[in-house]
Amino acid sequence: MTAPADAPKPSNFLRHVIERDLAEGTYAQRHFGGTPGDGAHQSAGPLDPAKIRTRFPPEPNGYLHIGHAKSICLNFGLARDYGGICHLRFDDTNPEKEEQEYVDAIVEAVQWLGFDWETPDPDRPGEMRSHLYFASDYFDFMYRAAEALIEAGLAYVDEQSADEIRATRGDFGHAGTNSPYRDRTTAENLARFRDMRDGKLPDGAAVLRAKLDMASPNINLRDPTLYRIKRAVHHNTGDVWCIYPMYAYAHPIEDALENITHSICTLEFEDQRPWYDWLLDTLCDLGLLVQPRPHQYEFARLNLTYIVTSKRKLRQLVDEGHVQGWDDPRLPTIAGLRRRGYTPESLQLLAERSGVSKAGGWLDYSTLEIALRDDLDPKAPRASVVLDPLRLKLVDFTEVFGSDAHREPCHAPVHPAKPELGQRDFVLGNEVWIERDDFMETPAKGFFRLFPGNKVRLKYGYVVECTGCEKDAQGVVTAVLAKLVPDTKSGTPGADKVKVKGVVTWVDVATAWPIEVRLYDRLFTEAQPDAGDRDFLSVLNPRSKQVASAYAEPSLASAQPEARYQFERHGYFVADRVDHGVQRPVFNRAVTLKDSWGK
Ligand code: ATP
Ligand code: MG
Repeated sequence: MTAPADAPKPSNFLRHVIERDLAEGTYAQRHFGGTPGDGAHQSAGPLDPAKIRTRFPPEPNGYLHIGHAKSICLNFGLARDYGGICHLRFDDTNPEKEEQEYVDAIVEAVQWLGFDWETPDPDRPGEMRSHLYFASDYFDFMYRAAEALIEAGLAYVDEQSADEIRATRGDFGHAGTNSPYRDRTTAENLARFRDMRDGKLPDGAAVLRAKLDMASPNINLRDPTLYRIKRAVHHNTGDVWCIYPMYAYAHPIEDALENITHSICTLEFEDQRPWYDWLLDTLCDLGLLVQPRPHQYEFARLNLTYIVTSKRKLRQLVDEGHVQGWDDPRLPTIAGLRRRGYTPESLQLLAERSGVSKAGGWLDYSTLEIALRDDLDPKAPRASVVLDPLRLKLVDFTEVFGSDAHREPCHAPVHPAKPELGQRDFVLGNEVWIERDDFMETPAKGFFRLFPGNKVRLKYGYVVECTGCEKDAQGVVTAVLAKLVPDTKSGTPGADKVKVKGVVTWVDVATAWPIEVRLYDRLFTEAQPDAGDRDFLSVLNPRSKQVASAYAEPSLASAQPEARYQFERHGYFVADRVDHGVQRPVFNRAVTLKDSWGK
C-alpha cells in the first residue's frame, strides 16, 4: 500500500536539524544584510531571522533530470513547509560549458514542478522580490576573499604543472608533498595572483591554492585549488575575467553571501564538509563574512533503475540520435518526463516516497510509475481507444435497428468514481473496432473474450455473441462476426440477466477518430545500464518506442496538448505537448495500468 498524496510528511534528519535550529534560534542572531557595502549581500535581500533559507544550485550545463527533481522538491519543499525561502542559484563558475538554453530550461523545469523563488519584498510593500541568483555575480567578492587569504598567509600561487600537482597530492595511503612554491612571501603571492588576474600568465601556468596540510588524511584538505587561469568568454561576465574560481571554493561563499542557513547536497560532498567549514569560518575570522554562517548537510542521491542520469551520457543519447532531443519521452530529464505525461504531483510524490537518508541505494523504476498511477487514477478522465484495430461486424444490426445507418446512443462515465464529472456520449453502429487480441478463432485455455459461440459485453453497449470470422487469402483474420443479444444494453433494466465472463473495449467505426499513439517503454533492458564497464548503449531497448495507428472515441477530439487520460484497459496517456493538434492527434503512453515489465 502506498500513502495517499496528502498524507502528513514523514520526518527525516533534515527536518530534525531545521526544527532544532528554529527552536534554538541558531540563525536568530544574524546580522541584517550581512557585511555592509557588499552588493552580493544586498541582492539576497534582508534577513528575517525566523526564516530558514535553502537553495537549489544547478550548473547550467545540461537539462535537469529526475535526481534534480528530488533535490528541487526537497529544498523548495523544506523552505515551503517551514515558512522559509529557497533560492534558485545558477552555479555558473565554469565559463566553458554553460549556455543560456540550459538556464531557460532549468527555470521552466523548476516552475513546472510547482515552485517559485519570489517572496514579498519588505522594502517595497505589495511587490515581490526574486530569489534567482547567479554565482558569477559574486566573482568580485570571491577575488577579494582570495587576496585576504593570501594576506593572512593562507593561500599561495603554485606554478607547478597540473601533472606535478596531481602527482604530489598523494593518495589514501600516502601523504602528499609540499610544493616548492608553498613558502613564497605574501608580497610575492599577491603580485603573482594579480599577474594571473591581469592576464600576464598563460592558461594553466599557475593556480592559487589554499595552504592547509599536505599530509591531511582528507585529500580535500591537501592545499585545494581556489583559482585557475582560463581565457574563456563567460555568459554573464564576458571577458572581464581570465581567472575563474573552483567549485569547491566558490560554492561555500555563494551560500554565505546569500545567507543560506541549510546547504543541502548529496553524499559525495561529505568529505568536502571540513573544507566548507574551514573556508567559511576563516572568512568570518578575517572579517569578510559574519557568523552564524551556513552549514552543509548531505543526503543520499536518488538512484533509479533502468535509467542513466550522467549529463555526459544523456548528451550522448541526444547527440547520437538514440533519442529525439532532450525532451524525448524516454529520457529521465524533467522535460522528457513532462512530455511523457508525468505530472508535477507525481514527481513530488516520488521525491517524498524515496525519503531522505544517509544510506544510498537503488529505487526500482516501478516506484516512479506507481507514483504516476496513484496521482492520475483519481483524476484522469477515461476514454475508449483501440490500439490494434480489428473490425467487428454486427451481422443482425439492420434487422434489430431497422437500418444499417442507425446510430444507437451509448454513455459512459467520464470517471467511474466521480459522477459529478458527467458522462461521455458516443454511438454504436453496425461495425466497431476491437483489439485484435480480443478474438481467438480457437480459444486458449482461460480465454473469455471473443471466439465463435461465446458471448461478451461490448463495454457500455450490448452483449454480443460471436458467430465466426472472415479471413484473407493468407488466412489472416480481417473481421469478426457477431450478433446482438436482445435487451442487454448497458444501463437498461435487466441488462445484466445474460451473464458474461468477458468485457471488450470498442470504438464505433463510422465515428472513430484516428489517432497516432506512441507506445513508450523503458529505454534500457538492464536495471543498471552503466554498471561496471559495460557500454550503456549496448543495452538500449529496441522496443522503447512503437507507433500505433489507433482509433479513439470522438470525445478525445477536444483534447488539448498535455491533457492526460486513462485509455481504458491500456494505461495513462497524454496528448503530446509538441506534436499533438486537431489535424494530427498524437498521444503518448505515459504508463501502463499494471506493471507488465519483463512479462
Ligand atoms: P554534474 O556535477 O556531473 O554536472 P550534477 O547532477 O551534480 O551533475 P548539478 O547541476 O551540479 O548537476 O546538480 C544540482 C544539484 O542537484 C546538486 O545540489 C546535486 O547534489 C543535486 N543532484 C544531482 N543529482 C542528484 C540525484 N540523483 N539525487 C538527488 N540530488 C541530485
Ligand atoms: Mg554537480
